[in-house]
Amino acid sequence: MNTRAFLVAVALAGGILSPAAPALAQKYITVGTGGVTGVYYPAGGAICRLVNKNRKAHGIRCSVESTGGSVFNINTIKAGELDMGVAQSDVQFNAVKGRKQFNEPFPALRAVFSLHPEPVTVVVRKESNINNFADLKGKKFNVGNPGSGTRASLDELIAAMGWTIKDFGLASELKADEHGPALCDGKIDGFFYLVGHPSANIQDPTTVCGAKLVSVTGAAVDKLVKANPYYAYATIPAGLYPGNPQETKTYGVLATVVSSTRTPADTVYQVVKAVFDNFADFKKLHPAFQVLKPENMIKDGLSAPLHDGAVKYYKEKGWMK
Ligand code: GLU
Repeated sequence: MNTRAFLVAVALAGGILSPAAPALAQKYITVGTGGVTGVYYPAGGAICRLVNKNRKAHGIRCSVESTGGSVFNINTIKAGELDMGVAQSDVQFNAVKGRKQFNEPFPALRAVFSLHPEPVTVVVRKESNINNFADLKGKKFNVGNPGSGTRASLDELIAAMGWTIKDFGLASELKADEHGPALCDGKIDGFFYLVGHPSANIQDPTTVCGAKLVSVTGAAVDKLVKANPYYAYATIPAGLYPGNPQETKTYGVLATVVSSTRTPADTVYQVVKAVFDNFADFKKLHPAFQVLKPENMIKDGLSAPLHDGAVKYYKEKGWMK
């Protein structure tokens, strides 16, 4: 093959000169989520489903990746290996400022919209006699995998209480998909998880082994809520899960969708448009979305600047000036 023929062959293989190339180049985007039993994963699935419905018009193919959670998603967006991701509002805040889990600020981080509330959720074995967070001292407790937002929030809570990880008898780092089975198998006494409700992740251990939700209240929580804009008091409604007729008082954050300036404005615009043009359908895709309202989603829990593609859509709708 001479040089020219070789170059043409390469170009054809790459689809550059292919006569059959579609008018619109296919773009692939990947959304980082969390464990498959949580709410981030179905949330990413709901977003991608609506994006992919209109693929012929915009050429974007959206797919979801199950990941270790918020901190992993933001670090992987920063590395350019994810286009978008779901992250807790406290983790988004820390990433913007370069504090706690992050060594340096991430100025290219962009907010897209917020989603459902994620209360701090502590679940314990039925017979464990644990009635509040302080009772967990010396117990076998799953503190969340490194890279999860759950773990980031746990670290902040125990620091406010004057505890360290050594105050637990065992601090296991199982992933969210593993903590329910470990609880029901008696390997741990309880687990910590920031998640939307209702969630399959909590439904399973409450159904399988009568696991109990525990309130997370007290002076340390009051201090955290007062000192940090991303925390608010929260309540997990009575009777949401089997065997848990009581209301559970706690505090929590919001789930948010983030991206970076590396992801083109057109792409983010199409994602936002897919969600809000089909908002009634979107809300039906997970029960934790029932409470969502566009006017709150475009501002609450967002500490990074809004992505240009999101701003374009919100202005078109008259939601922003
Ligand atoms: N908030 C959790 C985290 O960032 C994930 C929750 C979920 O997957 O729904 O670790």
